[in-house]
Amino acid sequence: DLILHNGEFIREEDLVISKEDRGYQFGDGIYEVIRVYDGNLFTAKEHIDRFYESADKIKIVIPHTKDVFHKMMYDFVETNNINNGQVYVQITRGAAERQHQFPAQANPVITGNTKSVERPVANLNSGVTAKFIEDIRWLRCDIKSLNLLGNVLAKQEAYEEGFFEAILHRGETVTEGCSSNMYGIKNGILYTHPANNLILNGITRRVILELCKELEIPVEETAFTKTQALEMDEFFMSSVTTEVMPIVKIGDHKIAQGVPGELTRKLQTAFESRIGVGVKS
Ligand code: PMP
Repeated sequence: DLILHNGEFIREEDLVISKEDRGYQFGDGIYEVIRVYDGNLFTAKEHIDRFYESADKIKIVIPHTKDVFHKMMYDFVETNNINNGQVYVQITRGAAERQHQFPAQANPVITGNTKSVERPVANLNSGVTAKFIEDIRWLRCDIKSLNLLGNVLAKQEAYEEGFFEAILHRGETVTEGCSSNMYGIKNGILYTHPANNLILNGITRRVILELCKELEIPVEETAFTKTQALEMDEFFMSSVTTEVMPIVKIGDHKIAQGVPGELTRKLQTAFESRIGVGVKS
């Protein structure tokens, strides 16, 4: 497969990145992950808008119009013949002698790759487990930054203990997952943290909130506590790769009877019609 480098598709072995690229030295950049279903980029516009917004928030100017970038993503997927998979793309502030302030002269560097990925059907059916971990990240989690140490450390702790994801919390308040958004359902109402500086407003989250409207599931974008999380009737997480993923156990506490809940199932089915696949595909 070819990789993306500054608007060109090249062989990976031909890629040259400076050791002083600010992405490498500071994590000074942002990224995006777009899902491909059946050769189509799912919610491409939303992802591309978020990519430009994240860049703008850290004052990196993407050297392509959105239309050109959009077409580039499509060409990339087509070039690599990706039918079901994903595109990863990042932009850094570029290479310059190491100093914290922005360099006077540096050209942003865009790199990306595609890969084939299957839907996580087994986990979607059975649900997964998660554990609470303190959210030690910075206060601009709305930016899809390359700086992911807080996320990485939490995910590693969860992983080492056999959990699929960490449920991050600031004090008592649940924010989101390491690489996902979190939702609880209580008495038919769906609760999720508001899209502010403390979470990344997932594109899957936005689709789910739309689906709730269609299904007439009331939504409260209100933060809930760890205690409330444990008392939810249903719990799930979402991201581009995990879709509507039931969480059936938090720590050693089973949610409901340890099986995915009814409204979670409904949302899964509605999500599957959105992406145009059947439940058991
Ligand atoms: N929150 C965080 C911290 C994430 O890294 C992700 C995945 N990139 C999400 C939420 C979910 O976002 P999306 O639905 O766009 O994948």
